[in-house]
Amino acid sequence: MISIDFFGGVDEIGGNKIRVNDNNTSFFFDFGMGFSQANTYLSEFLQPRKANGICDFIELGLLPYIEGIYREDYLRHVGLPYPSEPSVDGVLISHSHIDHVAYIHHLREDIPIYLTKESKLILQALEETGAASFSEYLRLNKSFYLKPKKRGEGYMRSRSNIVERDIHVVEPYQKFEIGNFKLKAAPVDHSLPGATAYMGENDEETIVYTGDLRFHGRHPELTDKFVKEAKKSNPTIMICEGTRINSQTNVNEFDIEKRAVEAVDHCKGLVVVNYPMRDLDRLLTFYKVAEDTDRKLVVSLKQAYILKLFQEYPDYPGLDEVMIYKPRKGWGLVGDNSFACVDNEWLCASIIDEDIDTNHSLRDYKMWERKLLENNNVLTYHDLQENPQDYIFRCDFFELKELIDIKPQNGIYIKSSTEPFDDQMEINEKKVRNWLKLFNLELLNKCFHASGHACGPEIMEMIREINPDKLYPVHTTHKEKFLELADDGIDVIFPHKQ
Ligand SMILES: [Zn+2]
Repeated sequence: MISIDFFGGVDEIGGNKIRVNDNNTSFFFDFGMGFSQANTYLSEFLQPRKANGICDFIELGLLPYIEGIYREDYLRHVGLPYPSEPSVDGVLISHSHIDHVAYIHHLREDIPIYLTKESKLILQALEETGAASFSEYLRLNKSFYLKPKKRGEGYMRSRSNIVERDIHVVEPYQKFEIGNFKLKAAPVDHSLPGATAYMGENDEETIVYTGDLRFHGRHPELTDKFVKEAKKSNPTIMICEGTRINSQTNVNEFDIEKRAVEAVDHCKGLVVVNYPMRDLDRLLTFYKVAEDTDRKLVVSLKQAYILKLFQEYPDYPGLDEVMIYKPRKGWGLVGDNSFACVDNEWLCASIIDEDIDTNHSLRDYKMWERKLLENNNVLTYHDLQENPQDYIFRCDFFELKELIDIKPQNGIYIKSSTEPFDDQMEINEKKVRNWLKLFNLELLNKCFHASGHACGPEIMEMIREINPDKLYPVHTTHKEKFLELADDGIDVIFPHKQ
């Protein structure tokens, strides 16, 4: 018998933490953050305290209290017991979106994490370039350790106690075992690289977990193959996402490309676009739009870093095929309008850089940023100001301040991201509109976004084709839509959140 405990992903989009158990094996599908629960209590400057270990997260219902899964430092620090062995045998990650991976940070390092190579690269980017706390995905830095002082009596705080997690990269359709279970990763199409479904079996039952998927991305053949293989496995249990179970149609990347080329063709000024940072298929779309309209795509340092990690994937543009935007940070010594005082004389940034210290302006940047800035395809706000017609500038919410330097004229702003689905996003959306008004950027927001999720009819058809005995809808706020599958002899079971 397989039993399943749902600790998230129930009546909400994301937050999947699904524990599969038989007599002596148990593992999780995903261990993500539930946005709705997090947004109920938290905001940008109201966050859980590390000082309270895992307790703030548990108090707010963000993490379940389960013995034997959390990291030693966060338990011992608040006087909670730390069992010698983990109580689960692994965590299988479907993809590296926050709502599926974020809370890996809290897990003990000896719990094996299974994920695709691309998911690992995305986590590496999040870990190395992110500013967020609680983002130790691949390596864990133990907190609350004191070490003897090198000189003199006493102890000092030890800042670096890094241990590697037990990471296992899974290959498409290659069997691996966790206790009683034989499992396989089945890659699917979703709005970032490396998304996968999983199929698993023990002696009695077969289970299929979709993760998040779609059929209208650049690689529908992946999802098609998953459906075929899942059907062949004759699953007794299927756990299926239903984000867009209520939607009837899809926009795809080719629609976006066509529409965007038309819009960009009519624009004489700067084209500003906002699309999700880790959606490399969307990056590719706007890379192609830029090619078709004789412009260059300009990406942020963070997105350039992701592209660098994905250099061996021929699908995506090379780092030298896009432009990298150098923002003003720290002292902001970029261009002719910034000065620093040298020997009581205020000198312009370009003079300081040329005459005094060629690397001076680089000191404002982190090491990973400096390496990227060594490329010769780096540009600044000056370039975008002087030749706006040559560029498509990717600019997300946090980069809107760059518009103050760029001061675009006659430009357009293409919104190529999801519609707001909570209060915070609504508020931010209003702020974006204020910025656009201030800088006279015309907002284009009709159908420039393709969802990462299959629409209702596709999901129903997929489930009917795979034909499990039991179906658990997750990652949806419209579970009732699945009930019509009862007519097909499928037992639809609504999960209860533990
Ligand atoms: Zn999700």
